[in-house]
Amino acid sequence: MRMIEARRIGFTYGEGFVILDDISFYANKQEFVSIIGPSGCGKSTLLRIIAGLIEPSHGETLFLGKKVNGPTNGMSFVFQDFALMPWLTNIDNVKLGLELTKLDENEKEKLAFDLLKSFGLEGFEESYPNVLSGGMKQRVGLARAVASNPKVLLMDEPFSSLDELTANELRNDVLHMLKSKDIPVDTVVMVTHNVEEAIELSDKIVVLSNKPTYVKKIIPVNFRYPRNRESREFLNFSDKVYGVLTE
Ligand code: ADP
Ligand code: MG
Repeated sequence: MRMIEARRIGFTYGEGFVILDDISFYANKQEFVSIIGPSGCGKSTLLRIIAGLIEPSHGETLFLGKKVNGPTNGMSFVFQDFALMPWLTNIDNVKLGLELTKLDENEKEKLAFDLLKSFGLEGFEESYPNVLSGGMKQRVGLARAVASNPKVLLMDEPFSSLDELTANELRNDVLHMLKSKDIPVDTVVMVTHNVEEAIELSDKIVVLSNKPTYVKKIIPVNFRYPRNRESREFLNFSDKVYGVLTE
């Protein structure tokens, strides 16, 4: 089943400065799709278009077969810089993810509390983001994103502001979350510039060109988890992806 379909998306700035030329791909249910491409090629712009946060200049995104016309119930966004509100407590930041739901205040409080706990942040409910490490901040970001029970997570370089050790922990948390029955999200579209990260996590990698940006290649990744970055298979595969990126 197609969860997300990007159909011939284009995006032009001002007087015809073309950023995205023509982008099509889809993400099936239970797929983890990575979008990789050079810095400035429009990855963040593309993901925001898919999320309905920006309107494309041409083309469209379908979510479960329906055209996206703005922020959409069922899709949540995870930001590179976490995008937490510094004046809100951690639990209130998670509750922001519940604003469009019909839950009453007590239900929101309970759900946000449980989510923080399941992300390993018990005891930090009433403190503010500034006391948290980067990894903990992104856990709050993930808790906020999944709070509304989305089917799809859109993640824009979610691990790239973290040190490698923390990034690795969070990647594992995300894979774990995708398997968990408590959290219904099972489809991910992730923007990254990290080839190894894309290979480690994805079922499919969409490789973008330089501006004006088109899809160079869509590469299925079909070897088994857990994917060992030192294995011959992995190294051969990353050679292949770097090849497409730089050709
Ligand atoms: P990426 O995430 O791949 O690094 P972005 O989507 O952030 O790329 O940006 C794509 C391009 O759009 C960049 O080349 C950038 O220069 C341009 N851009 C982004 N925001 C603006 C803006 N407000 N005005 C003009 N150009 C912009
Ligand atoms: Mg970006």
